[in-house]
Amino acid sequence: MSEVNAGAAHAGAQSESNLDLIIVGAGFAGMYMLHRARGLGLAARVFEAGSGVGGTWYWNRYPGARCDVESMQYSYQFSDELAAEWEWSERYSPQPEILEYANHVADRFDLRGDMQFDTRVERAHFDEASGRWNVTTSDGGQWSAQFVVMATGCLSSANKPKIDGLESFRGDTYHTGQWPHEGVDFTGKRVGVIGTGSSAIQSIPIMAAQADHLTVFQRTPNYMVPAHNGALDQGYAAEVKADYGALRDRARTRPGGIDIEINMAPAMEAGDAARREVYESKWARGGFGFMGAYGDLMLDQAANDTAAEFVRGKIRDVVDDPDVADLLSPHNIFGCKRLCVDTNYWQTYNRSNVKLIDVSEEPIERLTPGGLRARGEDFEFDAIVFATGFDAMTGALLRIDIQGVGGEKLVDKWAEGPKSYLGLSVAGFPNLFTVTGPGSPSVLTNMLPSIEQHVNWISDCLDYIRQHGHAQINPEAVAEEDWVAHVRETAGLSLRATCSSWYVGANIPGKPRVFMPYMGGYPAYLEKCAEVVENGYQGFALT
Ligand code: FAD
Ligand code: NAP
Repeated sequence: MSEVNAGAAHAGAQSESNLDLIIVGAGFAGMYMLHRARGLGLAARVFEAGSGVGGTWYWNRYPGARCDVESMQYSYQFSDELAAEWEWSERYSPQPEILEYANHVADRFDLRGDMQFDTRVERAHFDEASGRWNVTTSDGGQWSAQFVVMATGCLSSANKPKIDGLESFRGDTYHTGQWPHEGVDFTGKRVGVIGTGSSAIQSIPIMAAQADHLTVFQRTPNYMVPAHNGALDQGYAAEVKADYGALRDRARTRPGGIDIEINMAPAMEAGDAARREVYESKWARGGFGFMGAYGDLMLDQAANDTAAEFVRGKIRDVVDDPDVADLLSPHNIFGCKRLCVDTNYWQTYNRSNVKLIDVSEEPIERLTPGGLRARGEDFEFDAIVFATGFDAMTGALLRIDIQGVGGEKLVDKWAEGPKSYLGLSVAGFPNLFTVTGPGSPSVLTNMLPSIEQHVNWISDCLDYIRQHGHAQINPEAVAEEDWVAHVRETAGLSLRATCSSWYVGANIPGKPRVFMPYMGGYPAYLEKCAEVVENGYQGFALT
C-alpha cells in the first residue's frame, strides 16, 4: 500500500468558519473520529503534523518497532468487513504492517479528503460570544468549529533530554519516535544508545547486529517478558475471526482490555515449586499474559517480589557475564514501569561488539564533538540514538496553546497535574474532548479498543447534543474534582504508582508527579462511562 497522503492536503471545500468539528491528529483516534463524525453528518476536518495517517506507527519507524499486544487484538472493531478482510502476518505486528493497515483504513473509508497533513495545530481558543473554538494552524490557517477533539496521542511528544553539548556532536543523532523514513544503515558505525525502555529493547538487538560497535547507556534496567514472536498461526486467526465478538467481549472484562487469562488466586498461597511452574508456563507462552500469572502481582509486594526474582533468574540464565547480568537486573517493582516484551534483548549483551554503561549514579555528563562523556570517560560515536521516550499523556496537549472560558489556559489549569472528567473532557473547556486523555485507562490498556470506546462515547454525545438542541457541553467542576480524586485514590491501591515512571511524569524534569492514567480497570471505567450517559450525561452541564 502506498502512502499517498500529502496529495489530499487542503482538499476540503469548507470555508473557514462552517466546520462543526476540528480533529487534531490522524492516528487511529483521529481517523476513527472522522469516520464517526461523517456518519453523524458533521462537517469535520483533521489536522495532522505528519505527512500521513497512522500516528505512532507513522513516526516510530526505528528498527524492530512492533506492537506488543497480539495482532488479533490490536485492530479496530467498528467494521466487521474490515476485521474479516485484513490479514496480519505475525503474532505481534511489525510497524510497517500496522502503518499499512492504517493506510488501508484511510483508503477503505475514504478519509483523506477531510485531512490536512503537514499542519500542526498551534492554538485553540474558546470564544464565549460565539460558543465556538478558534483554531490556528502552523500554515497560518484560522479555523473555527463548534467542537474540537484532541486525538493528539499519549505517546506522541518526543522527549529528547537537554544534555549539555547536544549541538556540539558532529555525528548523526536520532530519536526513536522521529525515525527517518528512509531508514538508517548503521553498518560499520560506532553507535551509542541512550535509554533502555520498550523502544530501546526492540531496536538494540537489531542495531547491534548491524553496527560495528554499540554502547548502551542505561539509567534504569527494565523487566521484560519474551515475545516468542513468529508467523501468525492462520488456524488461530480463522478461529478468532469466526467469532471475533467473543474475543472482544472477553477482553472487555479484563483490567487491561486484553484477552489474557488471569489467575485470581493469591501468589503467596502457592508453594514455591507450584508458583515457579505457573511462571514458567506463562514465560513459555510469552507476552503480557505473564501479568495474569497471579491477580495480585501489582497489589501485594511479596507476590511482586516472587515475579521480580523469577525474571532476574532468567537474566542470569541468559547473560554470560555475571557482572553484566547484575547490571541488567532491575530491583524496582516488577511491572511498575511499563513491562517490555522482548526478542533477544538480554542475549545481545553476550555479543563482543556490545557494551553496557551504567549511568544510574552519575548522569551522562555531556555530548562532545566526537561522541559522549559519561562516568569520566569519553566515548567516540558516529551516531547517537535517543531511545528516551515521550512527554507522555499531557505533552502533546500542552504543546498547543489551549484556552477555555475566561481565557483560562490549560497549561495553568494542569500546573499541578492533569484534571479532567473521565479523561474525556475538562471543566471550563466546553465542547472540547480528549481521546484517551489523562484520567482514563488509556496507556494501561490495549489502546485501540480504548480509543474506539472514547470515540464512540464522544460521537454519541455529539449526536445527543444535536438531537436535544443543546449548544454546549461542559463538565461540572465538582464532577471533575470527584473523578480526579477517584483516579488518585485508585492509583494509590496499586504498587504501580510508587516508582519513577513516565506514568507519573518522572521522566520529564519539572513535570508534576501525578499518576496520570486511571487504574480502576477497564471494566469499571466502561461501566462509569455508560452510567454517565444513562443518567443523562451526569456530571455535565448541557446548555
Ligand atoms: P497517535 O498515534 O500518537 O497519533 C496522534 C497524532 O496526533 C500524531 O500523528 C501526531 O503527529 C498528531 N498531533 C499531535 N499533536 C498535534 C498538533 N498539535 N497538531 C497536529 N497534529 C498533532 N499501544 C498498544 O495498545 N499496544 C502496543 O503494542 C503499543 N505499542 C506502541 C509502540 C510505540 C513505539 C509507541 C510510541 C506506542 C505504542 N502504543 C501501543 C501506544 C500507541 O500510541 C497507541 O496504541 C495508538 O497508536 C495511539 O493512537 P492515537 O491516534 O491516540 O495517537
Ligand atoms: P521510555 O519507556 O520512557 O524509556 C526511555 C528510556 O530512556 C528509559 O530507559 C529512561 O531511563 C531513559 N532516559 C531518558 N532520559 C535519559 C537521560 N537523560 N539519561 C539516560 N537515560 C535516559 O520510552 P520508550 O522506550 O520510547 O517507550 C515509551 C512507551 O511507548 C512504552 O512504555 C510503551 O507504552 C510504548 N512503546 C511500546 C512498544 C512496544 O513494544 N509495542 C515499543 C516502544 C514503545 P529511566 O527509566 O531511568 O527514566
